[in-house]
Amino acid sequence: MEEQAKSGKGGGKEPPQVTEITPQSKDFSQWYLDVVRRAELADYTPVKGCMAIRPYGYAIWELIQQSLDKRFKATGHVNAYFPLFIPASLLMKEKEHVEGFAPQVAWVTKGGDEELAEPLVVRPTSEVIIGTMYSKWIKSWRDLPVLINQWANVVRWEKVTRPFLRTTEFLWQEGHTAHETEAEAQEETLRILALYKDFAETELAMPVVDGQKSESEKFAGASKTYSIEALMGDGRALQAGTSHNLGQNFAKAFEIQFQGRDKTLQHAWTTSWGVSTRMIGGLIMTHGDDNGLILPPRVAPYQVVIVPIPRGNWEETVLPKARELEAELTRQGIRVMLDKRDAYTPGWKFAEWELRGVPVRIEIGPKDIEKAQVVVARRDTRAKSSLPMENIGAAVTDLLDEIQKALLQRALKFREEHTSRAATYDEFKIAMEGRPGFVIAGWCGSGECEATIKAETQATLRNIPFGSESVAGTCVKCGSASSVEAWFAKAY
Ligand SMILES: [Zn+2]
Repeated sequence: MEEQAKSGKGGGKEPPQVTEITPQSKDFSQWYLDVVRRAELADYTPVKGCMAIRPYGYAIWELIQQSLDKRFKATGHVNAYFPLFIPASLLMKEKEHVEGFAPQVAWVTKGGDEELAEPLVVRPTSEVIIGTMYSKWIKSWRDLPVLINQWANVVRWEKVTRPFLRTTEFLWQEGHTAHETEAEAQEETLRILALYKDFAETELAMPVVDGQKSESEKFAGASKTYSIEALMGDGRALQAGTSHNLGQNFAKAFEIQFQGRDKTLQHAWTTSWGVSTRMIGGLIMTHGDDNGLILPPRVAPYQVVIVPIPRGNWEETVLPKARELEAELTRQGIRVMLDKRDAYTPGWKFAEWELRGVPVRIEIGPKDIEKAQVVVARRDTRAKSSLPMENIGAAVTDLLDEIQKALLQRALKFREEHTSRAATYDEFKIAMEGRPGFVIAGWCGSGECEATIKAETQATLRNIPFGSESVAGTCVKCGSASSVEAWFAKAY
């Protein structure tokens, strides 16, 4: 990851200049890097392709983790941990898997000053090590299903990297399950995809299209791959999560066998699924604007920031009231930050917290206290209004819910406005060139048509959404009969 972001100034007494953040319309990609750096989400490190996630960015990740973890446990999954290193010979066991990952693998060939007899790879994903352990743990149909999730870091040697979106090392969760029947494995694969969709839309306010990947885009070694795809503010798609039905491919390669109810020896049916810190990149590019980050309340480290207005002996008059307000909001379960630093002006603080995406700002000064009210500013609409101090906790809770819903609605509207249909290849090319976004088109199922479209327009087949698997029409590329409608986009 090369140093591309401008260095943020900050730290001064004056309001930060909005020019510190490149406008989206000028250069979306630079806007993104500016927001990541200036909002203190992540920073570059001396390690090529690896970022440091700063406390504010990590707090978002923790909220994502907690919320997902709760959902995994509610659907019967448990957490465990497996080694970071994988013996090279194990990785070689599943042919398609190794072909898919070999170019991206980091190798360990030396330990201390000794050459290793067998090199190790740093996990790019854990199917092979977990599959090996499952072959020891699973003996009978009574041992199934196994429903394990791991929170971990993985390493994929990337040539071009961008903070959160593609980094050499990243954080994620990877679920690995084993089942008695093919039907149960398929049910699990789809259950998790639905869980991811609900998470993305409910918590991140990020609408996603859920569907099946084409052969060329599926996970190396999987029978079927499903994804959720989001649309970013620049009209490019982001694959935000995947769920794979691995069939018996890994069970056969790693001898995950069990004695069935009929006493015969059978191979298990396995799945794997994951989402990563990439979600944070999605969050930034779904909601952010020229003033910086906009965080949906459910994943905002601070949902409310209170800025006291320092007039007169404010530390004896305003500050106690601000503290009372802080305590009251905290009692309501709201994550609140009282910014009482006196080295910064209120104007500086307003711009700073706006840039860092805090959903609600509350201003409180001597005049407000006289009127028993506070001034409330929303980050999403930047609208300001007054709220009475009485029942402020309930009012702010309602406001946070309203903002959460409004962000999802706004993102949905944006996606609708940036999704079009193409009946012919000319229409398709015009749509892809003219307006960024999704283009829905018939597809004959041929990998050749898909590859030509990609080569000529840079658009990839994102997925075939549920409900579009049997729509008769004609292939947008070759004109022959098609039986599915696919969603195409230029993608991250
Ligand atoms: Zn075709």
